[in-house]
Amino acid sequence: VNDEIRSVASQMLEIMRTEDGIGLAAPQVGLGLRIFVCDVPQDPDEPEDEALPSASNGPQVYINPVISEPEGGVEPMSEGCLSLPDIRGDVIRPPVVTITALDETGAKVERRAQGLLARCWQHELDHLDGVLILDRMTQAARTKVKAAVRKLERG
Ligand code: ZN
Repeated sequence: VNDEIRSVASQMLEIMRTEDGIGLAAPQVGLGLRIFVCDVPQDPDEPEDEALPSASNGPQVYINPVISEPEGGVEPMSEGCLSLPDIRGDVIRPPVVTITALDETGAKVERRAQGLLARCWQHELDHLDGVLILDRMTQAARTKVKAAVRKLERG
């Protein structure tokens, strides 16, 4: 983790904010790096849980992230993606996961989350492996977005 990586991360945070996103992965901006950033706000309708947060409450940078210890089976939740405008649909993922990574200072971090934050981590990590929400959508969700996908493919 050097100044160049820090600069990439801060530019990614900037782009994410400009696009009103809660997460952005390096491949989305054409970079072959295993980095993603996120900033997931607290849902006012959900109780704050310090031990198992569902929000990041500020920007986070994840370098070489690994996700482990999924818990709670799998649940559908509606997801969208900055790389797929106008497409939203139910994606099935574990509701609780642990992430380990390096932060922008090079320090090792290990965090566990639920809800939207856990979703966001898994969504962004998928980007690092070239996986999009379309690949993970339920059959019903995929059928619903078919027209929007065709429109995207036509450009
Ligand atoms: Zn995405």
